Amino acid sequence: MKLITADYIYTPQGFKENYAIAFDETIIAVDSLKLIMEQFPDATLHYGGEFSILYPGFINTHVHLEFSANTTSLQYGNFMEWLDCVIEKRNDLLGQCDNQLMENKINEMLSSGITTFGAISSFGAELEVCATSPQRVVFFNELIGSNPAYVDTLYGDFLERLKSSQNRKPHEKITPAIAIHSPYSVHPIVLKKAIGLAKEHRLLLSAHFLESQAEREWLESGSGDFKPFFEKFFKTSFPVTTINEFLGAFENHQTHFTHCVQATQNELQYLSHHGHSIAHCPRSNRLLGCGRLEIERVERLEIPFCIATDGLSSNYSLSLFDEMRATLMIHDTQPLQSLATSLIQSVTSTAADVFGLNIGKIEAGKEADFVMIRLPNAPISLSDIPLQTILHTKKVCEVYIGGQKIIASPTF
Ligand SMILES: [Zn+2]
Repeated sequence: MKLITADYIYTPQGFKENYAIAFDETIIAVDSLKLIMEQFPDATLHYGGEFSILYPGFINTHVHLEFSANTTSLQYGNFMEWLDCVIEKRNDLLGQCDNQLMENKINEMLSSGITTFGAISSFGAELEVCATSPQRVVFFNELIGSNPAYVDTLYGDFLERLKSSQNRKPHEKITPAIAIHSPYSVHPIVLKKAIGLAKEHRLLLSAHFLESQAEREWLESGSGDFKPFFEKFFKTSFPVTTINEFLGAFENHQTHFTHCVQATQNELQYLSHHGHSIAHCPRSNRLLGCGRLEIERVERLEIPFCIATDGLSSNYSLSLFDEMRATLMIHDTQPLQSLATSLIQSVTSTAADVFGLNIGKIEAGKEADFVMIRLPNAPISLSDIPLQTILHTKKVCEVYIGGQKIIASPTF
């Protein structure tokens, strides 16, 4: 049994002062410091230091580790130019991305307080580093393939990868899951099979959805910038599905849809009514020229959303703090303090609900995953803490996963 306290603890009831937590692998009790000390008189108490705040571990629901080698190789600013460039440079980038590089990126996530992440895996190359990482990982095996001539082979490969990730259970902190690449790149027949599999094995599902204007135009009318792309690379002139047909396939299975920047009010309403959620990656959207997700509409429709980094093929860091700072700036008409509060919620309790994991909240019974951060000075009020946390945190001071201390605090 261990005890921990900080100047402020972020609980489901808000920020608490003079509070403490008793924990082993899970959180045993959260109460006033006085009561916790009385209840567990023999346990040693650790204090996070001046201006410290204890948060649940942060959750990055959408990242592609396989593209970690990219820094300056890809063309940003326009989605189709970026996609052409990805296809041209793909083999080089994948070749440069070894286990050591991916491990470094996982450690970078850890040092910015990410204790759980959702890895979208195209080839299964990152399974080993994910399995040995200290974090919890939802391992999304990605299905891709729109050309009927190749879909069976691609589906077979997907099944093999899924099986490999399922075999890592239950000894490791890996949760096997399924990702559908996108409406334009997955044939409806294998889409149905994969969703059937997700339902049968109760696996989490994720899918890129309506990221760019070009995607929307292609799915709606078979025209636009995707047409020459598909003609050139896939010898086809027609989309394999429509927006509604694609969305309908996910009925009765709550899915984490990534981007949704080009979704209409009706489509967002559909997501809301069917209990789906959104991974919002604002830096990726900006860098690929996809536009801004109207987060105010998402909030009005009460669609659960999570801020996520996407991969380094469309970003310059995997830090959720960098992502949240950018989110504050991009959504510049939103009230600042309340946006900051909902961003912190999006990467803790909301993301935990989306993943169905027993994490994301500091309350008794949850896994003891938490991070300690320190502000440079005292906040002016409790309601200002989320904003000041997002503005001032680059690295966290301490990380605990399942009650184990992963990053040690520097001594004072
Ligand atoms: Zn992605």
